[in-house]
Amino acid sequence: MNNCIFCKIVKKEIPATIVYEDEHTLAFMDIGPIVKGHVLVIPKTHYDPLTETPDEIVAQLHTVAKRIAQAQIDGLGADGVNIMQNNGAAAGQEVPHIHVHVIPRFTDDGHHWNWAAKKYDDFEEMAELAEKMLSSFHL
Ligand code: AMP
Ligand code: ZN
Repeated sequence: MNNCIFCKIVKKEIPATIVYEDEHTLAFMDIGPIVKGHVLVIPKTHYDPLTETPDEIVAQLHTVAKRIAQAQIDGLGADGVNIMQNNGAAAGQEVPHIHVHVIPRFTDDGHHWNWAAKKYDDFEEMAELAEKMLSSFHL
């Protein structure tokens, strides 16, 4: 992809602080960390969205994310790690090249997700949504 900022990082056309690289995958420091030490893991080939990305690429991204998480625990002294992925603008995705966020968490890092749990009207409403998903589920 010509205009993709992450493809430019892969081609070393723009700088990045790389923490891991193999044949298929690259991991580098996020320039706007949610918590300092925040890393992005991307495939070297441009894929997007998640639902059109081959399973083996998704598996590679998460295998590397797991290793980065261990490095954040061992190297940065992280007490926990958030691994997350935004898919689509409605979900907060800004760069349309699939990527996994690996965010080190510290007991006193001061970051709070705005995780406001809601309630279903009743059990039927929840079951209806589950049924809608099940009826279009492909494996
Ligand atoms: P998302 O909102 O999930 O698409 O996340 C995109 C992430 O890419 C954000 O956390 C940005 O801070 C990060 N980002 C954008 N440009 C760069 C760059 N040139 N180098 C490193 N991280 C970047
Ligand atoms: Zn790209």
